[in-house]
Amino acid sequence: MAHDITLIPGDGIGPEVTAATVKVIESSGVQINWEIVRAGAEVIEEFNTALPSYVLESIKKNKIALKGPVTTPVGKGFKSVNVTLRQELNLYANIRPIKTYEGVSSRFKDVDLIIVRENSEDLYAGIEHMVSEDIAESIKIISKKASDRIVEFAFKLAKDQNRSEVLAIHKANIMKLSDGLFLKCAKGIAEKHKDIAFGDVIVDAMSMKLVMNPEKYDVLVMPNLYGDILSDMAAGLIGGLGLVPGANIGEEGAVFEPAHGSAPDIAGKNIANPTACILSGVMLLRFIGEVEAANKIEKAVESVLKEGKYLTCDLGGNTGTQEFAEVIIEKMGQNN
Ligand code: ATP
Repeated sequence: MAHDITLIPGDGIGPEVTAATVKVIESSGVQINWEIVRAGAEVIEEFNTALPSYVLESIKKNKIALKGPVTTPVGKGFKSVNVTLRQELNLYANIRPIKTYEGVSSRFKDVDLIIVRENSEDLYAGIEHMVSEDIAESIKIISKKASDRIVEFAFKLAKDQNRSEVLAIHKANIMKLSDGLFLKCAKGIAEKHKDIAFGDVIVDAMSMKLVMNPEKYDVLVMPNLYGDILSDMAAGLIGGLGLVPGANIGEEGAVFEPAHGSAPDIAGKNIANPTACILSGVMLLRFIGEVEAANKIEKAVESVLKEGKYLTCDLGGNTGTQEFAEVIIEKMGQNN
């Protein structure tokens, strides 16, 4: 049976990395009807919004989407398409696996941790205003409902993936009410999951611990902003943003997208690393039950990175985006 899946190519390097991913997924033997919908800066003039309603409707109908990055204007302009999508579809859990790969030069070995980021509130609620001409205020929302939900999600994920520890990351020593509530919720949920070790670490200390011994960590759950910052930082520990996939999961659907942004500096040159997007595709396939195809693609990616013969320029090679996808496809054939 073919799966109906929404495809948002995005902008910047988005169309290149999603095209490479679609090729790889199609070569895995899984049948997919891609419903391609456009979003971002390129549609603003036509629809007067960066996120036309057909995008949300398509995802609501299909429940699953693969999404390329969409540029977010800094300090002005339209609201982030990424954040709006997550809020509109209630995609409350953002999962970013951070893993080292043999063959990729990085500062550490044996890193295999997962960042579970709360996706619906915190400073990302976008409630800000000017108090006076010279003072701006941004409001941080933390609720029991969202905190319980994300910590529960982290424990379930830990169990499903045979992980042994969940750590809650916070700044409750300073934000005693908001982060204090998050921590209180995390401790309450942990009581129900005594088979998984639980602890909590203050976010600044966690940053230091991560850059010193990232291989020690397993599942880290945290509010939205800390998750955004720590996942980019953790990407740097394992060889860069080109390697980190992501999933946004909610009750009404799931959107899979690489952790990186639209990287306008390298867009349109066929040099972006499509690995993060391909691995997001692997997460998507597992989510829809196509586990065999997911394993096949993941194994091929690992083999190609390990051989180190065909790497994109962020990893020190000179293989193009589309050529990298072809190499993965060839490897899938050989591994069969
Ligand atoms: P955003 O705010 O939209 O999340 P960002 O600030 O995290 O974006 P990115 O666009 O993700 O920034 O990337 C930062 C830099 O990392 C890029 O300018 C690019 O040089 C590099 N980079 C990101 N993704 C890739 C990739 N897939 N392949 C190669 N280099 C990449």
